[in-house]
Amino acid sequence: MTDLGAGLSEVKNNIAHFEQRYGRDPGSVKLIAVSKTKPASAIRAAYELGERRFGENYLQEAIEKQTELAGLVIEWHFIGHIQSRKARLVSENFNWVHCVDRIKVARKLSVARPAELGVLNVLIQLNLQGEESKSGVAADEVSALAKEIKALPNLALRGLMLIPEPEEKLGKQRAVFAQAKTLMQALNRQGHDLTELSMGMTGDLEAAIAEGATMVRIGTAIFGAREVKAAAI
Ligand SMILES: *Cc1c(COP(=O)(O)O)cnc(C)c1O
Repeated sequence: MTDLGAGLSEVKNNIAHFEQRYGRDPGSVKLIAVSKTKPASAIRAAYELGERRFGENYLQEAIEKQTELAGLVIEWHFIGHIQSRKARLVSENFNWVHCVDRIKVARKLSVARPAELGVLNVLIQLNLQGEESKSGVAADEVSALAKEIKALPNLALRGLMLIPEPEEKLGKQRAVFAQAKTLMQALNRQGHDLTELSMGMTGDLEAAIAEGATMVRIGTAIFGAREVKAAAI
């Protein structure tokens, strides 16, 4: 088997194993293969092994790959920071957007969404650890943003997304993910119908599945280590 094939089957085995260990329904955790910085050929290879959901962070790079892979039936997830002036292109080229954290961007995504594509699925990015360097909304701001997004005609608010600070210990990883789950439940009590928790990467997959992740975003364990990218486009 190729490295990619081996990585992919290990990730899928781990997901199934953790679903079982933590009493999650089989198949309830969707894998998003994070292909940022990797060539279109790597996506094609993963596609041939059955993957259909891919996550990209850098808009220009993603659009180039999408052009190259036109014809493949891929569900594209934008998981990078969205610059307001790039919102139109994001809305036109993706099925899901994970990092919505301000109403200005949400409005632009909604306005730009081409009618023939149907609603754009969005997640609100949380920042529960007060990291100034990171995007995301604090716990006490989520409810207001969710309400505003719900009023936008061309977006469907589907859930929450989280990138926690790196942490080695399972228990500490779980504590942060548990907060995201609690917040989603609170929003649903306020009348939202959120089902998705996008959390869990190569280093914290187990903790995320234990706490209810429905989408895990895995890059390194599938495609191998990335070269450091000089600047995000
Ligand atoms: C790069 C990235 C991932 C994948 O991280 P790995 O540690 O390589 O699995 C997941 N989510 C986001 C938002 C990323 O930027």
